[in-house]
Amino acid sequence: MSAVEKSSKMHSKVVIIGSGPAGHTAAIYLARANLNPVLFEGFMANGFAAGGQLTTTTDVENFPGFPSGIMGPELMDKFREQSIRFGTTIITETVSKIDLSARPFRYWREMQEDEEPETADTVIIATGASAKRLGLAGEETYWQSGISACAVCDGAVPIIPVRDSAAEGSDLSDLTKYGSHVYVLVRRSELRASKIMAKRLLNNPKITILWNTVATECLGDGDLLQSLRIKNVSTGEEKNLPVNGLFYAIGHEPATDLVRSQLQTDPDGYIITVPGTTQTSVKGVFAAGDVQDKRYRQAITSAGSGCMAALEAERLIAEEE
Ligand code: FAD
Repeated sequence: MSAVEKSSKMHSKVVIIGSGPAGHTAAIYLARANLNPVLFEGFMANGFAAGGQLTTTTDVENFPGFPSGIMGPELMDKFREQSIRFGTTIITETVSKIDLSARPFRYWREMQEDEEPETADTVIIATGASAKRLGLAGEETYWQSGISACAVCDGAVPIIPVRDSAAEGSDLSDLTKYGSHVYVLVRRSELRASKIMAKRLLNNPKITILWNTVATECLGDGDLLQSLRIKNVSTGEEKNLPVNGLFYAIGHEPATDLVRSQLQTDPDGYIITVPGTTQTSVKGVFAAGDVQDKRYRQAITSAGSGCMAALEAERLIAEEE
């Protein structure tokens, strides 16, 4: 592996924080442009190992170039290999603190916050996002074995969405394209979704809404989810609902703790970029991938914005030289 860690107090032209499709695509472009990018891949950062969300899934069937599909971890190994091939320095550590108030930007690795910081002329934030969870009994056992938070990715499985916040309508519509019948659990007696989304759900013959209902436990044979324990919060009545899929549509959490107080973010914490670019509210700081995208959240769109961030960083560095 050519990814050898440099001396600890390094300065680089560009630092990439995050190792999903966005971070690695940015690295490939920057390394090919001879800008010697440094990529922090994180050590169990944001709940994920290096490589990001795709390391937690099996078949990826919609990433172009792999007509027979590819396993998520294998795809991310290939991204990493390609980054290294062109000279990216990959560091298996988490950036835990960053100061974006002046350039060069200063940042610290986890456990080294008392030491001298390292510095970079430009920074690409590609720290991703993670699905919010309900923390149900049995959830850990059946996560990705019947429970999913990505309708587009796992839509081939008949699924029951749990819905207890403003509806992610497009996700739910996706599910009904694949699943035979979909139950939507709503904790209240009304939907908080926009009127048009609510109407779409209510009029869909493949959807049954269970009002005032919450899930309490995921049950199965230890390998696959087979039913869901549900409770009517008005009557207290409990029962088992036989299902072979459970889809969480309760939103995602962007990994922006590192920069939330320094970059402009939306009310959900997603980094705001100048439309059509990856430029954040601080010159020289770019954001790519799920950390700035609450709409598409796909590997290919993350890779696309990673490419944009690299080209924008490269252009800025060239202008300033
Ligand atoms: P992520 O993949 O989220 O990676 C970010 C990584 O950055 C983290 O893992 C972590 O290691 C690192 N990191 C975070 N914070 C720090 C820090 N402070 N310092 C250093 N490193 C840090 N999309 C598809 O297109 N097709 C699919 O089939 C598909 N299937 C999916 C299945 C599952 C189960 C999930 C969860 C997602 C799936 N997706 C799929 C969505 C896809 O994985 C994401 O859209 C994509 O991974 C987002 O890429 P990203 O580069 O923005 O960040």
